[in-house]
Amino acid sequence: MVFLSIVVPCYNEEESVGIFLKEIQNILPGKGFEVIFINDGSSDNTLDEIRNLANENSNVKYLSFSRNFGKESAIYAGLKNASGDLVCLIDADLQHPPSLIPKMIESIVHEGYDVAAARRVSRKGEPKIKSFFSHMFYKVFNRISRMDLVEGATDFRVMTRQVVDSVMELSEYNRFSKGLFNWVGYNTKWIEYENIERMVGETTWSFRALVRYSMEGIIAFSTVPLSIVIFLGFIFSLVAFAYMIFIILKYLLYSDPVQGFATIMSVILFLGSVQLLSIGIVGKYLEKTYTETKRRPIYLVKESNINED
Ligand code: UDP
Ligand code: MG
Repeated sequence: MVFLSIVVPCYNEEESVGIFLKEIQNILPGKGFEVIFINDGSSDNTLDEIRNLANENSNVKYLSFSRNFGKESAIYAGLKNASGDLVCLIDADLQHPPSLIPKMIESIVHEGYDVAAARRVSRKGEPKIKSFFSHMFYKVFNRISRMDLVEGATDFRVMTRQVVDSVMELSEYNRFSKGLFNWVGYNTKWIEYENIERMVGETTWSFRALVRYSMEGIIAFSTVPLSIVIFLGFIFSLVAFAYMIFIILKYLLYSDPVQGFATIMSVILFLGSVQLLSIGIVGKYLEKTYTETKRRPIYLVKESNINED
């Protein structure tokens, strides 16, 4: 059994993996650790690079997916195959400074924390608008999920075996790791660091992808949007009822002939949109239930140097 397993999701990181491993070896001299690279269906030479590293270093393990399953799936696969007493989760692109790892281990071993996680305090080199939406996301998410996500919290963390086993018990198909890590609880020490721009390669997160990711997170951890639909229905029925009384009275008192094409059109169009929106929200939850009930595997391994159990 090794002391520390380092789990590294990699998608098109051919330039990063080698530098990453060197960096880790500098920071953690000795052999008390294993590095598990998860090749998430890269279309470049990431797999060849990882294979070479594994041939040269006996403590390098890898899993290679049959296609790109996404970072969340890669995290799940990595944690599942990690055998260490402590497990570190970190990005391959060196945006998560490996120099923090000894401090994280220290916090767990000597200060008694269960998790030591990195928190990005500055968002240097990021467009203002992105930071703004990110800030809004945390506010809304925490409000409606009754959880307490820390702003700037990253996946970069060291966890005890107990925490990893707990996370593994959440075997859902739609994985929102930020939420899952928070959901399991335990004592977390937050270690702050400044944002570091990507060294090589490119981020795979477009703005659209981030918006989709936020929506998935909210759907996975909150059913408040469903309550909002009910609330809207309730409010609209009250308004509709009041308006109906108004029209009846108006007819009785003034015997006004039926008129008001504009009013009718506005009401029909407005309510129609609200209905479509509501069906959409309900549909999103149904979609998640649907994908969950299929119970498809979270990832498929094509090649590996770990004996999978
Ligand atoms: N990653 C992955 N699968 C994907 C996308 C990304 O395993 O489909 C990995 C990627 O190789 C990197 C980490 O997840 O190690 C973070 O990705 P990226 O740097 O693109 O995200 P950002 O740092 O911009 O949040
Ligand atoms: Mg990155």
